[in-house]
Amino acid sequence: MEYPQPQELTIDEPLEPVAKPCSQCGDDAVYRYRLVNYRGWLRVVKCRSCLHVESSELIIAPPQGVS
Ligand SMILES: [Zn+2]
Repeated sequence: MEYPQPQELTIDEPLEPVAKPCSQCGDDAVYRYRLVNYRGWLRVVKCRSCLHVESSELIIAPPQGVS
């Protein structure tokens, strides 16, 4: 299966598949991962197919080298 390239250029975290389909497009290309944006660190659950964000929350910046 091929997925579109990520839109964020800041991804450096492994993608964690989420075992439920996207609520917008029904695709199962939904992943949970962390990213950094202007607000700081976020943990998001996002569809890689239609880019719908299922959820996002601000998190404490993870320490380097620890997950
Ligand atoms: Zn979707």
